[in-house]
This record gives sequence, structure tokens and C-alpha cells, in this order.
Amino acid sequence: MTSQRTRDRLINRLREQGIKDERVLEVMRQCPRHIFIDEALSHRAYEDTALPIGYNQTISNPHIVARMTEALLADGPLQRVLEVGTGSGYQTSILAPLVGELYSVERIKPLQDKARQRLRMIGLNNVQFRHTDGGMGWSGKAPFDGILAACAPEEVPEELKQQLRIGGRLIIPVGGSDNQELKLVIRESEDEFSTQVLECVKFVPLLSGTVR
Ligand code: SAH
Repeated sequence: MTSQRTRDRLINRLREQGIKDERVLEVMRQCPRHIFIDEALSHRAYEDTALPIGYNQTISNPHIVARMTEALLADGPLQRVLEVGTGSGYQTSILAPLVGELYSVERIKPLQDKARQRLRMIGLNNVQFRHTDGGMGWSGKAPFDGILAACAPEEVPEELKQQLRIGGRLIIPVGGSDNQELKLVIRESEDEFSTQVLECVKFVPLLSGTVR
């Protein structure tokens, strides 16, 4: 159920769904998604579906992880990247090998602690974690070449836009629970931003404050 063959089938499905970036597909082919979810559900790890990870949160489905990563990297390699909503650490583990430095924030401490252990276990050490409300970004580490959010605010937070360098890219789901769009925001100049809608999506909401 967790064999390389099962993972190869997942990669074939992602290709059929239009994912083209070979670097993204290769990292996803190598990633043991089953270690990011509870053992009781690990037989479903390579289905293209979101699964519960506790605290009312879900691990993102592989298709959306691939889409978001591909869209973030579409304009060339990125050095400094911020991830908002570490969750299980699955998206983190796909992004980390493809960028220079990854900064990942999560508001639920126990989820972050587990994610940190998993990343260490698979030997990814270019990630710094912070327990904080990521709607505010991580100003001490800004500006970022890219920001990827795995939780949906009602509007794109101004703080995240301001933490992009010029030319930087923000991928973020925006909207309420039944009308969300995945957006790509590019900082074109100091005070100009362009926005494209990539597809309709369904993410957990971006919530304020932190949970210990
Ligand atoms: N990509 C993750 C998906 C996690 S679900 C994975 O593959 O597992 C989204 C995560 O965003 C949840 O863990 C949730 O706690 C977190 N989140 C929601 N609002 C947040 C906020 N304001 N700051 C940081 N994390 C937040």
C-alpha cells in the first residue's frame, strides 16, 4: 500500500491531471506521504484526497500540492520561501528540496511539533519553523521570493503582499468555505500587484491567534 509502485501510480495520475514540472513530480514520487498521516489511515496515503490530521485540519491532496508548487516555481527557482499553515508537513517536504530556504509557520503547536520531527526524519534541514499566526507573515525573515498559503483567508492579507520582494509570487486560496479561488498574486513593483485566478479550491480557513 505504501510501496514505490503505489507512488508511481500517483505520479501518473498527476501527469494525467496536467502537472508538467518534472522536478515537482520527482520530489513527489520520492516523498513517503504515508508518514504524514496517522497509521490507521496510511493505506489511503496515495489516494488523491485530503485526509484528517487532527485538530479539525487536513493534509492537502497531492494534486493541489503539485499545482501550487508548480505555480510557485513557474518563473524560475526561488531562494527564500514562506509557507503559511505547515499542517502535517507534507507540502513542506515537497517544497523544501525545490527552494533555497523555507520558512514555515503554523498556529497549532502540536501539529507543528510533529511536522518538525517528520522533516528531520527524512533529512530535510533547510526549513525553519515558527509557531505563530501566519496571517501576519514572518516579517523578520522577509522579503520572500515566494509565499504559499495552505489555509484560506476571506481576503488576501496585506501583510503577506508587503512581505514579497518585487517580482515575488504569492499562491493563496481566498474566500469562504464554498466559494474559494486559488490565486496567484505577483508583486510587479513597490506598490503594484497583479492577480490571477488559477482554479476553484476547498481549503480550511485561515484562523487568527495560536493554539498551544
Ligand atoms: N499543506 C498542509 C495542509 C495543512 S491544512 C499539509 O500538507 O498538511 C492548513 C493548516 O493551516 C492547518 O494546519 C491550520 O492549523 C493552519 N493555519 C490556519 N490558519 C493559520 C494561521 N493564521 N497561521 C498559521 N497557520 C494557520
